[in-house]
Order: sequence, then C-alpha cells, then structure tokens
Amino acid sequence: MTALAAEDFLAQLHERLGEVVLTDPAAMERYAHDEAEWAAYALPLAVVRARSTEDVRVLVELCIAHRVAIVPRGSGTGLSGGANALSGSVVLSLERMDRVLEIDQQEKLAVVQPGVINDHLREAVAERGLWYPPDPASAPWSSIGGNVATNAGGLCCVKYGVTGDYVRELEVVTGTGEVVRLGRRTAKGVGGYDLRSLLVGSEGTLGIVTEVTVRLRPARPEERTIAGYFSSITAAGEAVAATLASGVVPSALELVDRTCLEAVDAWKQMGLSTEAEMVLLGRTDTPGADGAAEAALMQRCFEESGASFVAVSADAQESEALFAARRLAYPALERLGPVLTEDVCVPVGAVPEMLARIQASAASFDVRIANIAHAGDGNLHPLLITAPGDEAERERAQEAFEVILADALDLGGTVTGEHGVGLLKRAGLGRELSAPVVAMQRAVKDALDPHGILNPGKAIV
Ligand SMILES: Cc1cc2nc3c(=O)[nH]c(=O)nc-3n(C[C@H](O)[C@H](O)[C@H](O)COP(=O)(O)OP(=O)(O)OC[C@H]3O[C@@H](n4cnc5c(N)ncnc54)[C@H](O)[C@@H]3O)c2cc1C
Repeated sequence: MTALAAEDFLAQLHERLGEVVLTDPAAMERYAHDEAEWAAYALPLAVVRARSTEDVRVLVELCIAHRVAIVPRGSGTGLSGGANALSGSVVLSLERMDRVLEIDQQEKLAVVQPGVINDHLREAVAERGLWYPPDPASAPWSSIGGNVATNAGGLCCVKYGVTGDYVRELEVVTGTGEVVRLGRRTAKGVGGYDLRSLLVGSEGTLGIVTEVTVRLRPARPEERTIAGYFSSITAAGEAVAATLASGVVPSALELVDRTCLEAVDAWKQMGLSTEAEMVLLGRTDTPGADGAAEAALMQRCFEESGASFVAVSADAQESEALFAARRLAYPALERLGPVLTEDVCVPVGAVPEMLARIQASAASFDVRIANIAHAGDGNLHPLLITAPGDEAERERAQEAFEVILADALDLGGTVTGEHGVGLLKRAGLGRELSAPVVAMQRAVKDALDPHGILNPGKAIV
C-alpha cells in the first residue's frame, strides 16, 4: 500500500469510526502482539477498539474497499502469534464488547459479547447456579471470543470437553462484510454444513466473532485433589497412563515440574514444596463415596507408578494453591527469559515416551526445558527457556522445538493441541497435513475470505 493510499484509508477510518480508532504508535504497541514472544509482529496502521457489531461491519467494509488486512484480537494471551499485527494491517480489538447479554436458566445457556473474560462469564453464571466448564489456565485474562477462535482447552476438558463443545451459536461478520448467525440456540440442529464448528478454532481467518451463545451445565460439586510427587518425569508419565487406563475419568489431570514450581514460588512466595522433580495433580468431582473411591484409585495408580509421596485433599484452599501454581507457571517462567512454548498432543498411552523424548531433546540441544501439561489429554507444554540475549541458545531452542514437533507426529500426535497454529506452528502443520488436506483448507479460506483480508498468513499453510 502506498503512503497516499494509507493516508486515504486512515482518513476514511477516522471519518466512519471516530474515537474508536487509535493511530498513536505508543498506544498501538500494546495491541501489536500476543504472548508468543518468538513470533514476528509489526506495528499496524491503526487499532480499532470496536464497541458494536456495526463498528466491526463498517471496518470490514472499509478494509475490503482498500484491501487492508484485519487482525482480530481478544485479550492477546495467545501463545502462537495468531493476534500479532502485520505491517499495513488494522488490529481489531474486541475488548470493549464485554457484556454478558443474557443468561437463560431454563435452557442453560448464556449469550455474550466476544470481549467477555472467561472467568467473568463463569462468575456471572455461577450466581444462577450454573457452570461454564471450559477453563484455560488463562481464564482470568483471556476472552470468550479468543477462546472460540482458538477452540481453547483447559484443565477440566479431560472430562468436560473444550470450548467448541459448548458453543451453540455465533454471530459473525464475514469476509464479505455480512452479519450472519451460525449454529443454533437449540440443543440439537443438523441442517446444512456445520459452519459454526468451522469458525470455532479458525483463529480469526474465516470471520470475526461478534456474539457467542454457549451452553451451560448445572453447578458442579466440590472437587477432591490428589497430588503425587515423583522423582522422575517418566514415572509421572507412567502414572498418567495408569490413571487413565484404570477407568477413572478425572476432572483434571495436570503435570507441573520443579522448574515451574520454583519459578512460581520465587515470584509469589506461596510456600510450595519444590523437592520433587514432577508433581501430578489429579482431581475428581464425583460426589460422595464414588468420588472417594475414585480418589483412592488415583492414589494407588500414582503410588504403583513410583510416587514418593501422595496427598489426598478435600481442603479446597490447599488444593487450590497447587492449581493456582499450575496456572501461574507460564508467566512465572517468562520472568526467567524468553520462553518458546510447545503445545503438542499425543495419544495418552504415548505420554511417558513423549516426556522421555522431550527430556532427551533438552539434553542433546543443551536447552532448559520446563514442563507443564494437561496430561490427561496427552497435551504437553514443554517450555523452552533461553537466557535473554543469548542468540546461540535461541537457535538451539528453535532446533529442539522442531524436533519435539517431529517426535509428537512420530508418536501419532499433533503439533498443536489447543494454542492454535498462528505463526509459530505453520511449518509443523505443513508436516502434519497431507497435500490434499492443505488444498481443502485453502479452498475454505478462499471461499469465506475472498478478498484475503482476514488475518492473512495465519492458521493454515
Ligand atoms: C498463562 C497462560 C495460560 C494459558 N493456558 C491455556 C490453556 O490452558 N488452554 C488453552 O487453550 N490456551 C491457553 N493459553 C493460550 C490463550 O490464552 C488461548 O489461546 C486463548 O483462547 C486466547 O484468548 P485471547 O482472548 O487472549 O485471544 P487472542 O490472543 O487475542 O487471539 C487469539 C486468536 O484468536 C483470534 N481472535 C480473537 N478474538 C477473535 C474474535 N472475536 N473473532 C475472531 N477471531 C478472534 C485472534 O486473531 C488470534 O488468532 C494460555 C495463555 C497464557 C498466557
């Protein structure tokens, strides 16, 4: 785009959208990238902080006319560079569209704007005795629109499923500037292609989500937590496989290693025990005697896999501290230096082997790798930590990153379980998908975004 064309575009943007447009570079910097430190970004032409679906529609109309790319953005907690601004683009922030519009107790559903923060939705529906399950570790900060666009998983999805399992209906501004509704409010509905599911996880490349209708569940019972302490990463992996093979369906099964616990403790002084190499956190929300039996079975699986110590707790405060540490692990590690985040997912039976291969990569590339994992889903997050400014280490980490992706594929897994492809996983996705499937993905993109303005260069290869 020439300087003159950009000037003309910005003049029209200001005229049509007024005070929601930011062009001050210092103000725009905050909107220019997500949490994926290693992914490239540029300052955009402008940031639009939409207040309504109509603002979004007007922006799309202008961007089609001027062939300007739009980068949608929720809270910017993404870990793949999906919300990273491109040179000459407009970042569309949905953060001001943050109202819970409706909670229907009888139908057990809620209608929300995309900028509603995940935890805020959970709190709002809890007041009516209801529960919104999808709980990414970023729930205090990430938006429902971002969760839908990445099909976010979370801690309880081992039992209750991911964001897409709760999306009933979407309002979307399309790549041709129309406002459409996809999916249905009703519990069932199968007419036509399932375009709602196509939009879920499309990372802002097929449409802009301006309203979300989610289904809810009744409030859940208190959980019991089983914490197992292990002296080796592979023993903890064995405990994951044994637990899942036992028939228990945990309401969470999370792994966190000593590096993470030390980083959280150094930051928040939570008094966490950092003696064990790995801590495996299991939970059950089955009430009564059945829940007690499930907890006992998990305890046995942990012990038989070599746990040095297992603690069972029905004390919400105590177990919440361990889960809080799990949630804080990523920002705590970021304080140590640039972090390259993996998000591989392997069949649950392959978890011990995958963890062993990650450990081998750390040794052979001489890179520090911390581990957190939604272990019950086989979704592992090895976190490659490098010293600030150490270019050689950064390169070694990049090589280890690619080997870990290759190992996951080799074990029948995928390069991204929940964070999305964004910019960081495009090469990996290219290795994962066959050529005809890549062509199908491109055909969908071309059909739904014929002007190529929706988050180009992200999510697909
Ligand atoms: C500490 C931490 C813990 C995390 N834990 C988890 C976890 O447990 N599970 C998990 O799945 N992820 C996790 N993440 C990653 C991240 O929080 C999720 O991907 C989340 O869904 C992103 O939401 P967001 O609002 O921040 O979206 P953003 O980062 O702003 O955007 C993410 C993607 O969605 C697109 N997008 C955003 N809003 C819209 C919209 N309204 N319409 C169309 N496209 C849109 C963007 O263009 C981008 O491609 C974690 C991140 C951090 C920092």
